[in-house]
Amino acid sequence: MLPLVSTPDDRPALCFPGPDGDRVLTYRELSGAASRLAAELPVGGRVAVWATSTLETCVAVTAAVLAGVAVVPLNPRSGERELRHVVEDSTPELLLCPPGTELPEVLVALPRLEVDASPAPDTPPFTRQVDDEEIALVVYTSGTTGPPKGVLLSRRAVAANLDTLARTWGWTGQDVLVHALPLFHVHGLVLGVLGPLRLGGYLRHLGRFDTGALTRAMAAGGTVLFGVPTMYHRLAEAVGEDPALVRELAGARLLVSGSAALPLPDHERLTAATGQRVVERYGMTETLMNTSVRPGDQAGPGTVGTPLDGVELRLVDDLGQPLEPDAPGEIGEVQVRGPNLFSGYLNRPEATAEAMADGWFRTGDMAVLDAEGRVRLVGRRSTDLIKSGGYKIGAGEIENTLLAHPGVAEAAVTGEPDPDLGERVVAWIVPTGPAAPTLAELADLVAAQLAPHKRPRRLRVVESLPRNDMGKILKRELRA
Ligand code: ATP
Ligand code: MG
Repeated sequence: MLPLVSTPDDRPALCFPGPDGDRVLTYRELSGAASRLAAELPVGGRVAVWATSTLETCVAVTAAVLAGVAVVPLNPRSGERELRHVVEDSTPELLLCPPGTELPEVLVALPRLEVDASPAPDTPPFTRQVDDEEIALVVYTSGTTGPPKGVLLSRRAVAANLDTLARTWGWTGQDVLVHALPLFHVHGLVLGVLGPLRLGGYLRHLGRFDTGALTRAMAAGGTVLFGVPTMYHRLAEAVGEDPALVRELAGARLLVSGSAALPLPDHERLTAATGQRVVERYGMTETLMNTSVRPGDQAGPGTVGTPLDGVELRLVDDLGQPLEPDAPGEIGEVQVRGPNLFSGYLNRPEATAEAMADGWFRTGDMAVLDAEGRVRLVGRRSTDLIKSGGYKIGAGEIENTLLAHPGVAEAAVTGEPDPDLGERVVAWIVPTGPAAPTLAELADLVAAQLAPHKRPRRLRVVESLPRNDMGKILKRELRA
């Protein structure tokens, strides 16, 4: 199943923007730089990586992969409290960071090693036999629903998931992946960095997201783009303003979106402008990727596709009983099983036990299946499923409907206690202009397009929605 990093030869591996232009490493140079560092890592231990969007982060992670040392990526934009939580929970022996990094107070007590990412083509490759079940990464969840939990990801899970994604997407070492995502979640790090490195492909990271830099990178040979919905939303806006960008995106082989739902209006605008269908995939830290739309699937947007090869997926009712596979259309909780699953939460045996049901992982996400087995996510059980007047209502489709209104720039739907209905539907919107649409107008729109019981009963107009680094809406903050 291994290695996780392709053969050291002279193909380009990584490109990051630097102060004096692009910094590029070939596979041979990367192997040298990572091998030099691997020799200094504590075998059998854990190292924290100050996961800036830099070459240094990639060299640090590659070194740890070679040495078989588990990496705990730290989000450099975290506050002191969040960092303390991660560091006290994961107790790394060493912190790896780019030269000259100014670290926050909570980290200064940790032994530190500055990463030298200069090419070292003559350093012989570091080799060590590492078991597939060894932990490669301890990645903290996004903390959307509660404090982040450390997820133990084995080398087996990472390799198996990358291989099935490669088959599904026809993703190969010939591809040039463009991405601008942070490197401390599985999306940016496992798919975005370890993906190309395992396949022997080329990663062009933009350092930070910018529509101009992104479309230029796609035009300059990028074939695959990984992004989150906020990025595609901004691309859709930019394409609307400057149709020349269309040509640059139209040549891409594969545009992938994940981490949160891509609103239908953005899908439609991007497809209308570029002729490209954005491929949505569904995953999470604990399971890596579970499903994906197949490139070329003729069905319209709104689903996250079908389970990846090797991944089993089922829906269960409130009692944990599997729904009849031939009863499509019923809402259930998604459970998954396969070689992609995590090895448990760090230091949280009860949470691990609670998350599992007979070898199946309980995702906490609610979905319905269509007749072809495609998964349509309805939302999270804890925050997106509203029980109102005896109905189970998913926030997602209401949000999509609200977003189709020209006066709505951003939308989130939550439930709040209601003496009569149990819970009532609340719409939170960021208006596009000074005059926000009224509750009556939006309620009529939803009632007409979906069903009367789904109409919002309360409207809250806000300047912005609270979001995390991946652009996910923090509904627990809205509710609080
Ligand atoms: P926490 O577990 O700490 O509350 P989190 O669940 O947001 O945070 P992640 O593991 O980063 O942390 O995110 C996984 C979740 O993201 C999934 O459970 C799902 O709710 C959501 N998600 C991922 N991909 C998609 C997608 N394509 N469409 C809709 N939601 C998605
Ligand atoms: Mg989660």
